[in-house]
Amino acid sequence: MIAVVVVRDGQLPSGGDEVVAECSGRAVLIGSGTAAAAADLAGVATEITVLEVGGFQPADWATKLAPLLHHEPAVVLPGSPDGRDLAPRLAALLHRPLYAGAISVTPHRVELTRRSSTEIHQTHPGPEFVATMQPGVRGVAISADLTAPVVTDATPTHLPRQQVRDARVTEVLPPDPATLARAEAPRIIGGGAGLDGEHRMDQLAAVGAVIGASMGATRVITDRGWVPHQRQIGTTGVVVDPELYLAFGVSGAVQHTSGLGAPQHIISVNTDGHCPMMQLADLAIVADANETLDHLAALLGASLQATLHDTTEPSA
Ligand SMILES: Cc1cc2nc3c(=O)[nH]c(=O)nc-3n(C[C@H](O)[C@H](O)[C@H](O)COP(=O)(O)OP(=O)(O)OC[C@H]3O[C@@H](n4cnc5c(N)ncnc54)[C@H](O)[C@@H]3O)c2cc1C
Repeated sequence: MIAVVVVRDGQLPSGGDEVVAECSGRAVLIGSGTAAAAADLAGVATEITVLEVGGFQPADWATKLAPLLHHEPAVVLPGSPDGRDLAPRLAALLHRPLYAGAISVTPHRVELTRRSSTEIHQTHPGPEFVATMQPGVRGVAISADLTAPVVTDATPTHLPRQQVRDARVTEVLPPDPATLARAEAPRIIGGGAGLDGEHRMDQLAAVGAVIGASMGATRVITDRGWVPHQRQIGTTGVVVDPELYLAFGVSGAVQHTSGLGAPQHIISVNTDGHCPMMQLADLAIVADANETLDHLAALLGASLQATLHDTTEPSA
């Protein structure tokens, strides 16, 4: 298996390192700043081919990648926005099926989630296929013993740009924390049964918008219909891997925390100082989550207004 990862300005996308690990360290990096991105894969990658081809052109890139990949039975891309654009074009050019949204990929078995992650489907693909893998589902163990990857530059020097109808990048917008897929969010603010009403989820989302966090919830909350199922974090919800997780009135049941990845920091607000979420937290605040949220929203009030103002005012 080989991973194909789109790099923008030296930055690996969310889930980029995970697909490289899933493919036992073999990767093709394509885009801009690929050498820097290759260095970031130390301890994960063993063998990297780089194509330094500039700005995102998925149709053109697919034609450049297809000859490199036609002998590779399984090609795996992260289900990042760029990966999801490139994967179907590659699959079409390589005349292979595409398995989208996998949580695990081996040469003989692909596990896919369906129906808003409520079902896991196991498929047994033919010998050749393309797959995308959901960011955050796997995690990566950095190996200190792994020697530096062998990097080969396969940038086409003389090939003219292919005359294909292609996507054109007109503007790159920063992610909106309110709508960002939980699996890709670097900060998540989660609500649980300790919250006293549906309106708290709006409050949580508003506070999240100020601090750049996407709103998530426990199953108790999604079962009540306070937020859609897509917001549910856990074994039967989405799997996330944020840098920061803020939990308000969340007990930390294993079915919830098993979907949390490995956050670098956890802050938990709960009246029960001994519940699992408080045990996991770097900062455990024994307090009423609703009152704390009110105080936080009030403290951030000016910023809340500024945020609303920013989104409604036409840019200068
Ligand atoms: C097969 C299966 C799959 C599941 N999948 C998922 C899943 O994907 N995701 C998921 O989240 N759950 C899942 N669950 C449910 C899971 O087991 C828990 O029931 C759920 O996560 C608990 O949610 P909670 O923390 O909101 O509620 P509770 O466990 O009821 O915890 C509420 C917390 O709020 C605290 N609290 C109460 N009042 C206040 C207050 N005023 N201020 C502050 N804190 C307060 C309490 O001390 C408690 O810690 C699954 C269960 C099963 C059986």
